[in-house]
Amino acid sequence: MRERLAVSLGARSYDIHVGPGLLAEAGALLKPFARGAVPVVSDSNVARLHLERFAGVLTGAGIDARPIVLDAGEGSKSFRWLEKLIAELLAAGVDRGGLVVAFGGGMIGDLTGFAAGILKRGVDFAQVPTTLLSQVDSSVGGKTAINVPEGKNLVGVFHQPRIVLADTEVLGTLPRRELLSGYAEVAKTAAQGDADFFAWLEGHAAKALQGGPEAVHMVAQSCRIKAAIVVRDEREAGVRALLNLGHTFGHALEAATGYGERLLHGEGVAIGCALAFRLSARLGLCPDADAERFIRHLKSIGLPAEIADIPGERPSPDVLLSHMAHDKKVKDGKLVFVLARGIGQAFVTGEVPAEQVRAVLG
Ligand code: NAD
Ligand code: MG
Repeated sequence: MRERLAVSLGARSYDIHVGPGLLAEAGALLKPFARGAVPVVSDSNVARLHLERFAGVLTGAGIDARPIVLDAGEGSKSFRWLEKLIAELLAAGVDRGGLVVAFGGGMIGDLTGFAAGILKRGVDFAQVPTTLLSQVDSSVGGKTAINVPEGKNLVGVFHQPRIVLADTEVLGTLPRRELLSGYAEVAKTAAQGDADFFAWLEGHAAKALQGGPEAVHMVAQSCRIKAAIVVRDEREAGVRALLNLGHTFGHALEAATGYGERLLHGEGVAIGCALAFRLSARLGLCPDADAERFIRHLKSIGLPAEIADIPGERPSPDVLLSHMAHDKKVKDGKLVFVLARGIGQAFVTGEVPAEQVRAVLG
């Protein structure tokens, strides 16, 4: 079972392939883009579990694969590791016509994509995402970045991959909490613009998350929705912002909890989407039943949906509001929110009174 979809961006168009066992076919799929040495950038966890086999497949297809392993963890999305990675790519001999493969989660994809985007003014790269989050979200759309002390993802470029290969079987080794965290972006993607997909998820997400054949549709449909938005707004000047449903709240929660183990990004997004639905209902924009339905689904999957679900001391509304004021989604001093008129009907607004926001945070 395979799904293949196109991201149509003119000269920057590419295909996304989704399916179980796809890694075994990666040699043939990547070969057309490979020239000379092909660095395969991975992190220590992915390398331990999957790199030997993956590199073997590439070598077997006649690709001169050169594994590069970086430390796992968000800390590697930094200037220091970018510099190390660039040095390794140069040492491997990548030139303008070459290809770099990002084999890992969003951390590896963002860092490797950025390195490829700036190396020799841009070399090709392929995304081979290994987390649910990276398969449904970060590997699609061409945003790349590293973090700096001033904030997350503040330094980067738009650089589209040449191809994306999402092997759903690889998700089998992902820790359950990481898997669920990635699922929050699936639920978000459906909730912002595809009510039919949301209804499908209500019936099939549990099986998809156990690695059933449903996983292919879950990943492919998420990519299809994201790709359709990216095609309309590659550089996030407008409609792409809808994919940030739940993220203004989510980022504030992540910041207030120190961007750590206490709250993974997807968990923040889950609670953030729940808050966005609650706020929408409170403002009379969205039926209460839709907000409740969204929250019920998160809970049924095992995701947090309330601020009270975060372990430790509850972040105060004031702290959260001040983080939101520092978020990059502030326009002309007003908080910009993605709200919803119902499941699948998100929209962007800058007209939300602060006291209403505070009320859902309390
Ligand atoms: P990650 O890459 O850090 O992976 C999470 C953990 O899972 C890591 O410990 C990793 O080593 C491990 N792992 C990866 N694949 C595995 C597998 N198959 N089996 C076992 N363990 C595995 O994090 P992530 O959640 O994939 O991505 C988060 C990053 O993505 C953040 O840096 C975020 O800013 C970025 N992001 C980017 C975009 C974009 O559009 N570019 C969108 C969303 C998120
Ligand atoms: Mg996100």
